[in-house]
Amino acid sequence: MARMEKKVKKTKITSFKSELPQIPLTRKELKNLLNYRIPCLCCGKEMLHPDIYMRLIDKKELNGKASDVIKLLEPFENIMHPVERQVFNMFKSMAVKYPDKDFRELLLLKKDVHELALVKIQSSIFNKVSFYRRILPKKMARQLRKLMIKTNDIIFDPEPHKPFSRRIFIHKLKNIIKNLENKKLKDEIIEIARRLPRSSDEVSAFVVKNARKSSDVIALNLIHPSVGTFEHLTPKCMLGLSNSLNFALECSHCNNSRHHYPITTQVEENPYMPHNAQLQADKLISLCKKGVCNKEYIENLREVLYWLSERTIDLDISKLYIT
Ligand SMILES: [Zn+2]
Repeated sequence: MARMEKKVKKTKITSFKSELPQIPLTRKELKNLLNYRIPCLCCGKEMLHPDIYMRLIDKKELNGKASDVIKLLEPFENIMHPVERQVFNMFKSMAVKYPDKDFRELLLLKKDVHELALVKIQSSIFNKVSFYRRILPKKMARQLRKLMIKTNDIIFDPEPHKPFSRRIFIHKLKNIIKNLENKKLKDEIIEIARRLPRSSDEVSAFVVKNARKSSDVIALNLIHPSVGTFEHLTPKCMLGLSNSLNFALECSHCNNSRHHYPITTQVEENPYMPHNAQLQADKLISLCKKGVCNKEYIENLREVLYWLSERTIDLDISKLYIT
């Protein structure tokens, strides 16, 4: 019996191997697409080619006076994400007033005001989350109380040794209520916690997070979220392949914020993702007609996204077949 099983397994593996689809694009070809202003699969914002970013990293001037760094970054202003662009504009007007200061010194001037603003937003959301202690089963309510005490200790301490992390907070909260039977209540609590600002959607969160960094890192952080990357559609840790059958083009920001979570969670966090994925597909189809992208890549992307997103991303690629 054992022997037979072995045999069956073996044939299965060989037949699977021979049916492996061809890899539609090499890494180089896929990366090359980033020269054509591709919108991010998740947020829809235009991405920057990573080589251009790499050339920027090498510039020593990034640690110099703000006015010089501003000149270096100006060509990238149009691809900056909204919060980064707001901070960049803040630097521009501050540099006029303080011509000798660098980015770090300028951020430090703003840190206190923004920290207070951030704590105000955060604590109003924490209050709303804490309210659920009244409704949750006893054990969960106790765990929630503990989490909120710890969290308040961090945000009300002017110099916490570990800064507050929105991601870890949501993760812990999810863990506490994971066995809650009332799904509607569960979603409601997580939805409130998701309103906690990220450095990508609130200027004050950006200022607070970056005021600890050096000037060159602050400068690069204005650009970095826009850099194009390969997103593993099936995460590496779940044995996802590292080739174009499993790669989608996504900006660094979206790629980093997904971590190893499933695409369904990514769609929950980014409700416009199905729409934005379509924008990318349309762009890829137009590049396909110019001979830069290929049909098989787009067909595979459609198929993989459809299943991994549990049918919420259903790309229309019919234009691919119109000649
Ligand atoms: Zn993005």
